[in-house]
Amino acid sequence: MRIATYASHSALQILKGAKQESFETVAFGKARAKPLYTRYFPVADYFIEGTYPEEKLLELDAVVIPTGSFVAHLGIELVEKMKVPYYGNKAALRWESDRSLERRWLEKAKLRLPRVYEDPDDIDGPVIVKPFGAKGGRGYFLAKSPEDFWKKAERLGIKDKEELSGIQIQEYVLGVPVYPHYFYSKLNRELELMSIDRRYESNADAIGRIPAKEQRDLEISTNYTVIGNIPLVLRESLLMDVIEAGEGVVKAAEELMGGLWGPFCLEGVFTEELEFVVFEISARIVAGTNPFVHGSPYSWLRYDKPVSTGRRIAMELKQAEDEERLDEILT
Ligand code: AMP
Ligand code: AMP
Repeated sequence: MRIATYASHSALQILKGAKQESFETVAFGKARAKPLYTRYFPVADYFIEGTYPEEKLLELDAVVIPTGSFVAHLGIELVEKMKVPYYGNKAALRWESDRSLERRWLEKAKLRLPRVYEDPDDIDGPVIVKPFGAKGGRGYFLAKSPEDFWKKAERLGIKDKEELSGIQIQEYVLGVPVYPHYFYSKLNRELELMSIDRRYESNADAIGRIPAKEQRDLEISTNYTVIGNIPLVLRESLLMDVIEAGEGVVKAAEELMGGLWGPFCLEGVFTEELEFVVFEISARIVAGTNPFVHGSPYSWLRYDKPVSTGRRIAMELKQAEDEERLDEILT
């Protein structure tokens, strides 16, 4: 068995982790990416050109580790039809990609979520508007009243309520972003806290670099395009909040979709009342784990050796191979 993934996002970490656990590795993707994975950072034993070279991956006895890039480039329909074994529960992809299903899942997990406004005319405080299909925060906008909402929506060509389907209006929760990364071992039935990051976003993290007066003069609107990730260590008395949130999500997934296993991430903010408010779940490895190629403070506390999320995935696959339980974790 070889470990394969799409050449972008968190592939360096995944393939490095696989090699640390003595697997051979395969990267596939754009030709331009090849030197990154074979020469500058030699983590891929094989590099295949293509979005999803199914025949070659089958020949190489590969298991695909899904990432945000892989799912984005291939699309959920094709991922569901894949013949190459996939690590994780494909059913979770539907639930995370549909905002109303996602909300049902997070509600069942008893998490604190931002209020959702069904009708823009009910807006009575700051909101963040998430257009359908917007990824990584591109296309989001902030509004503070119904008038403000309609003025900004019009710029996107939305003139009345009929055109609002797929758009979600959420309460804007003031707090600092915290993205905990978890790993749920289906083999051992155990949740682990792997690491935590916050994102570095353009232009949200650029606006503070200019004085308020100029911000106003320039009429800048906020965007959240991810440029990188910054490691974070949480105030220790908040760790149980984050762990219980992860446990809740795993338990809810068992009831709703046959489970959630492998890496996942909750995306939210901590408010000044020390409350963790979650606005999104990613049911697979997130790129926020990338600062921790050599492990994080949390994985060090547990393992006493450098364990990244990528390596943890490989450890699980190895254990499954040894115990002849691969069919329990591949779909
Ligand atoms: P890419 O392969 O970089 O085009 O990314 C594919 C998807 O993964 C996009 O939706 C990105 O927003 C997301 N993504 C990529 N890198 C990161 C990152 N470092 N942090 C958070 N999300 C990311
Ligand atoms: P997302 O792509 O949904 O993870 O969101 C991109 C960014 O928007 C996040 O990193 C947050 O900074 C911000 N954000 C999203 N939803 C909310 C919310 N309900 N309240 C405050 N900030 C939010």
